[in-house]
Amino acid sequence: MIYKCKNCGGDMVFEPSIGKMKCPFCDSTECEEVSTGSEIQDGDVATEETAQELGFTQAGNLLCPNCGCEIELGKFTTAMRCPACDSNIIVDSRMKGEYRPEFMTPFKIDEKKAKDMIKQKFASMRFAPRDLVSEARLKKIQGWYMPTWFYDVEATLNYYATGIQEKKYTKGNVEYTDIDSYNVERVIDARFSKLPVDAADDLPDQMMDLLAPFDTKEAVAYDSRFMSGFYSEQYNQNAIQLRPRADAQVEQFGKSMCRDSAKQGSHGRYDRSENENFNVQYHNVIPHYGLMPVWKYDYNYKGQPYPFYINGQTGKIVGNAPVDSGRVAAFAGGVAAAILVIGLILSYIMSFSAFVPVAAAVIVGLILLLTNLHPAAGKVTVDSRTYVSDGDKMIRVSNDNYVGRQTKTRQLNSGK
Ligand SMILES: [Zn+2]
Ligand SMILES: [Zn+2]
Repeated sequence: MIYKCKNCGGDMVFEPSIGKMKCPFCDSTECEEVSTGSEIQDGDVATEETAQELGFTQAGNLLCPNCGCEIELGKFTTAMRCPACDSNIIVDSRMKGEYRPEFMTPFKIDEKKAKDMIKQKFASMRFAPRDLVSEARLKKIQGWYMPTWFYDVEATLNYYATGIQEKKYTKGNVEYTDIDSYNVERVIDARFSKLPVDAADDLPDQMMDLLAPFDTKEAVAYDSRFMSGFYSEQYNQNAIQLRPRADAQVEQFGKSMCRDSAKQGSHGRYDRSENENFNVQYHNVIPHYGLMPVWKYDYNYKGQPYPFYINGQTGKIVGNAPVDSGRVAAFAGGVAAAILVIGLILSYIMSFSAFVPVAAAVIVGLILLLTNLHPAAGKVTVDSRTYVSDGDKMIRVSNDNYVGRQTKTRQLNSGK
């Protein structure tokens, strides 16, 4: 189906800046739904027949509701643009039943803002290729509604470790170290709310994990109007298949919760802990299916893809920029040449050997080259994950049992 402007018949799109549908041609906000099977409205009742009547060919290709051309649909595609007439098509027959999202977060950041954010982010990156932020390249930016599983998890976290306290003191020429050990035990009942796991194969898991968090408090019930103008897919993997990635998050956050709690013992702070042992018992895991907004910018440099992703709700950018070796070489050469010229003049005035400025220029030039051509140089854009959990925890058992003391001695040099 597509959304047409009631005023001029133009293709309507969802406009994040106003949070509504808008006609890009006449600015009207009044729209109507158009599907090929004219007698079929949006139709929450899904049957094979309605899907067919909604405009598929026998081969399973989609017929554009606007221009009638045949479109080869991707296996999971649910929203896309007609390559012939640019109409935004929503394949609502693929959004039924188990594929109907429970909720979605509409884009808050529009295309212009997403582009501006990329430009701003890379303005300070001296050695990124110049066309990284060119308007021609940025045209490729695409809004995606990412199919995402959100897991509500109730679990018991069990943590055991040996907490160590050390105290140093001196008597005469001998330094003593008292090492007190405690058996530390923490049992925490924790509830994690909406841990996100992306369910689109095309999007790299690691980067999608970095795009989190999404604020699901701003989510709304699924509405196909928000989809118009964007690309989207059904989930490619189900909630059971992706469970291990949610469990990995529970372990990561759970462990740090336990460690935080175990730092402070009933007998004061521990200097360190040893023999850590951690495990999770899962009680209740409920997956929810939602669509999250992501801007995707596919940048290619020397045949290599450098994808960038922007959280369409929070504006967080994730990606690695390539380094333009030509720009690095020009910069290093320029600095080296400047050192050489100034050095030669000084060596003439102050009459020292010309070898000094030559050597200095070569060394500085090489250092600049090597440090900036390093593959890590472009990674400045990777944001480290900050996770906001609205889950809560209750410490059920918190035991610190004294094990005993060990004392080490060390003979001090009497001369000191
Ligand atoms: Zn219009
Ligand atoms: Zn078309």
